[in-house]
Amino acid sequence: MDYSKPVFAGNWKMNQGPTAANAFLDVFLAAHSPRTDRTVILFPPALTLAAVRSRLAERADIQVGVQNVHGEEKGAFTGESSALIAADAGAAFVLVGHSERRHVFGETDVESAKKCAKVVEHGMTPVLCVGEKIEQREDGGTEQVVLHQLRTGLSMLDHDAVRRVIVAYEPVWAIGTGRTATPDDAAAVHRVIRAALVELVGDGAQDIPILYGGSVTAANASALLAADEVDGLLVGGASLDPMSWAAICAA
Ligand code: PEP
Repeated sequence: MDYSKPVFAGNWKMNQGPTAANAFLDVFLAAHSPRTDRTVILFPPALTLAAVRSRLAERADIQVGVQNVHGEEKGAFTGESSALIAADAGAAFVLVGHSERRHVFGETDVESAKKCAKVVEHGMTPVLCVGEKIEQREDGGTEQVVLHQLRTGLSMLDHDAVRRVIVAYEPVWAIGTGRTATPDDAAAVHRVIRAALVELVGDGAQDIPILYGGSVTAANASALLAADEVDGLLVGGASLDPMSWAAICAA
């Protein structure tokens, strides 16, 4: 993956089974011609991954990933999938520590760290999501929360592995709420994340993509992408409509 290109990542969450995914791709693939100047990644539900992969067999410009893995490799964890299984199924990227995993399913920073380590061990790229809740922002705690999630989430990786991750800043108050951070809000936190990455691994930290996520739409994508230290976008709701996703991927 060429980390100098902007990254457009679509998180479908628990939406779009194989049938809906095929209908989505009918429209999206017609609207979005292959481009070499950007990286596009889709994160369908795990049960939809095979259908999306098979449909993208002739579209090497679009990558696929899964939305979560378990921190263990295998065993008695009914209902879960591991990094080993995700890699075998053809995922190249894994979302780790998405706010819904943290706040709906109780995922801890240490669990995110274990997941990142397993994802890297199996040759995939973790997309480590960090972000503060509204009350933490209002208490002036944004930086502390984000840095703690970032440093702990990356703590089980060596420096070379850290240089190959993607980080996504997703303020919880902006996810699925229609309330977007301004480009200046995003840039301020992205600069803090960048400085922490430089402190952690030195050379190469500048190349780690830092994506912004939280109520991104076709209308605000370009402005957010133009903000300082914003290297791409992680998009939930607006990635479910093929035309709006195509417009975002053209931003
Ligand atoms: C997300 O799920 O990562 C996300 C950013 O959602 P939305 O774009 O709907 O806010």
